[in-house]
Amino acid sequence: MNATTETLANQTLARPNFDVDKIRADFPILSREVYGKPLVFLDSAASAMKPRQVVDTIRDVYENDYSNVHRGIHYLSQRCTDRFEAARETVARFLKVKDSDNLIFTKGATEGLNLVAQCYARSTLKPGDEILISELEHHSNIVPWQMVAQATGAVIKAIPILDDGQIDLEAYLALLNERTKIVAITQVSNALGTVTPLAQMIPAAHAVGAKVVVDGCQATPHMALDLPAMDCDFFAFSGHKVYGPNGIGVLYGKPELLAAMPPYQGGGEMIDFVSITESTYKDAPHKFEAGTPPIVEAIALGTAIDYVTEIGLEAIAAHEHDLVEYAMDQLAQIPEVTLHGTAPGKASIVSFTWKGAHAHDVGTIIDRAGVAVRVGHHCAQPLMDRLGVASTARASFGMYNTRAEVDRLVRSLDDVRTIFA
Ligand code: PLP
Repeated sequence: MNATTETLANQTLARPNFDVDKIRADFPILSREVYGKPLVFLDSAASAMKPRQVVDTIRDVYENDYSNVHRGIHYLSQRCTDRFEAARETVARFLKVKDSDNLIFTKGATEGLNLVAQCYARSTLKPGDEILISELEHHSNIVPWQMVAQATGAVIKAIPILDDGQIDLEAYLALLNERTKIVAITQVSNALGTVTPLAQMIPAAHAVGAKVVVDGCQATPHMALDLPAMDCDFFAFSGHKVYGPNGIGVLYGKPELLAAMPPYQGGGEMIDFVSITESTYKDAPHKFEAGTPPIVEAIALGTAIDYVTEIGLEAIAAHEHDLVEYAMDQLAQIPEVTLHGTAPGKASIVSFTWKGAHAHDVGTIIDRAGVAVRVGHHCAQPLMDRLGVASTARASFGMYNTRAEVDRLVRSLDDVRTIFA
């Protein structure tokens, strides 16, 4: 590639407020080298890097305001509680949820989905009730439902996908019936990037009386969200995918559902009154937050959300869409490459296999060129079965990636060709 094309490749469409170089400067890790080569980090779907602002918040809380929350009358405890609860308000604004009491801090999406399965589904499902999950799901949105189905006698049915990775909407609508009690569906596939048609799926599920649980893990970093407009019953995401710390996530639930649900963990700060033989519980969200919560992580999640909100989710989505389209175009020109998941309007993820090479070999070879992608089944084994592959290589983009990095990915695949020729 000559200098002119490199420059062109670096260009993104003019978008107000979106300056990829400025964003990259906030992520010092992106400037490091691996194996003597500049890092090209294309694994943000596994976990996104953290901007300096998030790291600064973590340091600031520990150095200046740290204390346990909801249990002290001293200055620092109240100060830290205020910051913790302010973070909940920030999440509420981010999701356009009016009442932050409907947001439970968890340790991640996995815990949020398990909480719904154990606290809502386990106490409401009867033998023969049906749970619909799609073939796109991450194991976190499969295994909790299997556990609940085993405990209750409910039955799991798969919502099929089309060959390009879209939900088969007709088949989904045909599966819905009066036995359907739960539809558990991802908003964006972590393995293919497919955006699911929730605007059609959720009202159809409600029409048969089912509740809808949305796995928003791969949506929150990439698109503006409005949960009241979406009208899902539950929504879970992880902070670390949206440029926040590990160990913090959020579960949203409709207030009437949260009010009726029993907690599944008992402990400090979730009770009103405790005797030796019985207890009464606080209202949501506190009844689901037993024990000392991830305090600093929640506060720093608030900073991460402020960070992406300041840049603008629409601008981020447009930038990443450009990267996905560019990467798909480039990879489609390589004869050995098969792209998996070509649904229109995909978000931020490109999955592919290389003819004659295992995805792990592809990942290992390009890693030596400094290009970090995820290889494997992406915690989506049923999807791999559906696609007829054991694993794929997955390049996933964050707001800090560039077209020049896509070019580095494409160039690094020359090494795979050389070795497997
Ligand atoms: N759902 C999806 C779509 C994911 O991509 C992931 C993580 O990769 C999860 C759920 C689980 O998230 P966590 O491991 O942060 O709980």
